Amino acid sequence: MIKIFIFVLILACLPLSGLYSKTNEEQQSEFGIVIHGGAGGITRESYTPEQDAAYREALSEALRVGYEILKNGGNSLEAVESAIRIMEDDSLFNAGRGAVFTADGKNELDASIMDGSTLNAGAVAGVTRIKNPITLARLVMEESRHVMFAREGAEVFGDQHGIETVPEDYFFTERRWRTLQRIQEREAAEERGGTVGAAALDKNGNLAAGTSTGGMSNKRFGRIGDSPIIGAGTYANNKTCAVSATGHGEYFIRLSVAYDISALMEYKGLSLREAGDRVVMEKLPDIGGYGGVIAIDQFGNIAMPFTTAGMHRGYVLDDGEFVVKLYGDE
Ligand code: ASP
Repeated sequence: MIKIFIFVLILACLPLSGLYSKTNEEQQSEFGIVIHGGAGGITRESYTPEQDAAYREALSEALRVGYEILKNGGNSLEAVESAIRIMEDDSLFNAGRGAVFTADGKNELDASIMDGSTLNAGAVAGVTRIKNPITLARLVMEESRHVMFAREGAEVFGDQHGIETVPEDYFFTERRWRTLQRIQEREAAEERGGTVGAAALDKNGNLAAGTSTGGMSNKRFGRIGDSPIIGAGTYANNKTCAVSATGHGEYFIRLSVAYDISALMEYKGLSLREAGDRVVMEKLPDIGGYGGVIAIDQFGNIAMPFTTAGMHRGYVLDDGEFVVKLYGDE
């Protein structure tokens, strides 16, 4: 009886002692999702009002799908995969349907996904007929004993698991084709970006991240960027944060950008914002790289640093307020 009394007394005193707070930081949001649709020379002047509205609409739709899953108690992996699938199916983005062309006029797609609660991960590189590479990446994570499959092997694995495939011309879009022509005629080095990614925190405190891309316009055959590389373009760890990157992939690989942000939080105790700024705004430009990341930590803090003129991006937390931005300021 006395033991029960003491136990109840301790419980009653916990809120006063502050021991209820999870760690040294306040929980900002019980759950949330943050997404990107690529970084690059995205300025208000470069978009027509219709394009501006189309990007905002597409990003909002991806956020809405992820938000519904999280609000209803679904897990962060599901939210990340579903949000990315929406953007893969939309030709506005350089992922899935709207993938850019390689130098020899083909589409080679990369994707990866990571579960922050187990550190399990899956990735595919250079696939040519998978409708939703992010779903194949998740299959690799959940149904194989490997982390990454490339090219034909990835497709055979997908076929064995009944993944949806499409003819290669599904990925032909006039806009991306013209971009390739312009780059090859040296009329433009311009690439606005359009890789997609998502990072989410669910009600159980689990983090997940994923990224999907067609890579960079005019890339050489077999070139693989950062997006399918765990630690470079994607990383998630429940102890720290979930990150998805976009930008010039070679630099993101060399700096292990996504993992470096997590490591700065884990080993140096930096906040998400500090770690993101240190890596994206300082270390990346120092070696000549450019791009950005979106990230969420276990407390529901969001960071979206980028060095380019703009980055298609947005987030929604447990208050249900959707934030979508394209340019430097809005
Ligand atoms: N990071 C991607 C790659 O290098 C491209 C991008 O995000 O725009 O393949």
